[in-house]
Amino acid sequence: MQDILISGASITGPALAWWLERAGFRPVLVERTPGRARGGHAIDVRGAALRVLEAMGLAAAARASAMRMKGVSVVDDHGQELWRSEEMTISGGRFDNPDIEILRDRLSHVLVDALSPPVEIRYGDSIAALQDDGAGVDVTFASGHRQRFDLVIGAEGLRSQVRRLVFGEDKDFLRSFGIALAPFSAPNTLGLEDWQISYKGSAGGYMVYTTPENDELRVCFNVPATLDDNPGGRDEQMALIRAHTAGLQWETPRFLEAMAAAPDFYLGLIAQVRMPRWSTGRVALVGDAGYCPSPFTGQGATLALVGAQVLATELSRTPDDHVAAFSGYETRMRPFVEANQAIADLTTVPEFSEDPEYYARVVEPVLDKAKFAIELEGLD
Ligand SMILES: Cc1cc2nc3c(=O)[nH]c(=O)nc-3n(C[C@H](O)[C@H](O)[C@H](O)COP(=O)(O)OP(=O)(O)OC[C@H]3O[C@@H](n4cnc5c(N)ncnc54)[C@H](O)[C@@H]3O)c2cc1C
Repeated sequence: MQDILISGASITGPALAWWLERAGFRPVLVERTPGRARGGHAIDVRGAALRVLEAMGLAAAARASAMRMKGVSVVDDHGQELWRSEEMTISGGRFDNPDIEILRDRLSHVLVDALSPPVEIRYGDSIAALQDDGAGVDVTFASGHRQRFDLVIGAEGLRSQVRRLVFGEDKDFLRSFGIALAPFSAPNTLGLEDWQISYKGSAGGYMVYTTPENDELRVCFNVPATLDDNPGGRDEQMALIRAHTAGLQWETPRFLEAMAAAPDFYLGLIAQVRMPRWSTGRVALVGDAGYCPSPFTGQGATLALVGAQVLATELSRTPDDHVAAFSGYETRMRPFVEANQAIADLTTVPEFSEDPEYYARVVEPVLDKAKFAIELEGLD
């Protein structure tokens, strides 16, 4: 039995803890936010990740909390519909497949609720320093608490602290797409029902969609950004959004008002994480921290859930040999990660937004292959 610290309790962290606890390890989660995940955008559980969720017995719970989208409209500066589809959405793809589109906070709650009581989640704390002496890892937390673990796993997303402490700076591993997204909740002032709108104005645009209850919208503004930008705190970030949306029309003033009041507003760079390896000594990375594919692929949650299951399976195969386990994890995951990260090359070309048929013709066939591009073991 080994004590394993997992830093980050969004999607990857609780999924990994679930599989590790089941395999007889003692996982502990540390999460820097004061409580459970809140807000966020719609994410997709596809292909191999759906099989992982089914094996966890959580597919029904995820479906019950899933998005209920019926279609998408593209509108212009005056709200005039330019195009519509009742067969797909831009965020989730076509409806005629079993994939699950779900808000990030809701999937996180499904995963956290599935953890049995021995799995501790320490909210409001984070790793300040760690020292791997070959036989274990001494961790000092921001709270001042110290504890020794057998292994430490970073599941802290794109801006992982464990990655920074152990592997190197963000600039060494992040491939920026030059854009940051700002999702937040807003009242459903449009009266939309199970619908998504992509606003394409003469000076730019953004995406809006309903929550499953239709009581709220999630709005997702975007601004140009580089890796080195430091937009500061909430006020500076909102000032940046206001400056970049100044020329936009449609419902923009109303959404800017809602943004100011949104409790869950955040601004995040869109980037991929590309690393030559995801482990060193007794420390490893999983999910976005190690191989974020970026929202341009829609495959982040899929890599997160599959990565958690593969890492746990490899650790349970050789519980006394983490080197072999980490090596097995890297060997099995890398082709899957590469196949899914490559989707961003197809969705960041002008045709993606200009040609309504491009998704079905070009992206979907590649995605349908990539989402299954791994042999899963230990699911029974
Ligand atoms: C705008 C946007 C749109 C997206 N759209 C899609 C999509 O359509 N489909 C899809 O599949 N994916 C999408 N994604 C990606 C998806 O959200 C991620 O891939 C997925 O959430 C990865 O989960 P994770 O647990 O690895 O990381 P995250 O969800 O980023 O979670 C990291 C967790 O670690 C915590 N944390 C951070 N730093 C520390 C620290 N120092 N100490 C302790 N805890 C810490 C955070 O609070 C958070 O709870 C999108 C992402 C964004 C930003």
